[in-house]
Amino acid sequence: MAIPKRKRSANDCDRGAFGHLALSKGKACPCPQVVRLLTKENRARALVSQPINLDLQQKAIAIHDRLCAEYGCPIPYFHTLDPLSELISSLLSHRTKNRDSGRAFKQLVAQFPTWAAVRDAPTAAVEAAIAPCTWPEQKAPRIQQVLQLVGEATNGEWSLDFLQDMPTRQARDWLEALPGVGPKTSAAVLCFSQLRGRALPVDSHHHRVAQRLGLIAKTMAVGPSHARLEALLPEEWNAQQVYDNHEVMMLHGQRCCFYQKPACDRCVVLSLCPYGQAR
Ligand code: SF4
Repeated sequence: MAIPKRKRSANDCDRGAFGHLALSKGKACPCPQVVRLLTKENRARALVSQPINLDLQQKAIAIHDRLCAEYGCPIPYFHTLDPLSELISSLLSHRTKNRDSGRAFKQLVAQFPTWAAVRDAPTAAVEAAIAPCTWPEQKAPRIQQVLQLVGEATNGEWSLDFLQDMPTRQARDWLEALPGVGPKTSAAVLCFSQLRGRALPVDSHHHRVAQRLGLIAKTMAVGPSHARLEALLPEEWNAQQVYDNHEVMMLHGQRCCFYQKPACDRCVVLSLCPYGQAR
């Protein structure tokens, strides 16, 4: 499909080094206004050719745009869980395959009719229900401890919907005060649940891709990388865009930037990647 010619409008972006490149020469500014005009294939090809002399936020945006073109943003949300269910689901998912943690969560809610019942059950029964996930013997007492605290904090209402009325940082602090809850889980609760909050989870794929691309230091652990990577995203981005950023970085780690033998030769962000360039 030919890239349509268009005149620059007042709504177009003017983002420093990107500017607006000549569409008729098969290149395009990666701003949303222009990207919408291009097919997925053309967008990916055009964006690969962008210059790499960018500051770190511009680079993060360029990476996001290329990966969005590759994987198709906006990406549908994969969960419609309420925030407390998302919290328990996230606690089960630590170092566990999605399929296994999903089974553990389904078994847990099938076996116990309420969160109060999970809290009050013999720990061995909770451990048996969540057996498909890793370390059920550690996760069962931790989940009961968390439910005890949530039950007390909500006067038995078992709802974390009040988090949506808090500023994001305050909501994350509230969650991270619970035992076993770190930045990844607090971000997952706000971002993946029905709250649809503006928070960036970073899983191991996302973290590895960000390190190789030079968005974070090679030595930066997953925990602190949450704040660093979220700070690179434009403040005006909405929750869907932040969610998309996590999803495309994760998908790229799963489908191209493998832990072993990353497929740099077919990577749409190769020209922005010091790790790939050095191989
Ligand atoms: S160029 Fe290679 S190392 Fe860099 S992001 Fe792409 S696949 Fe990963």
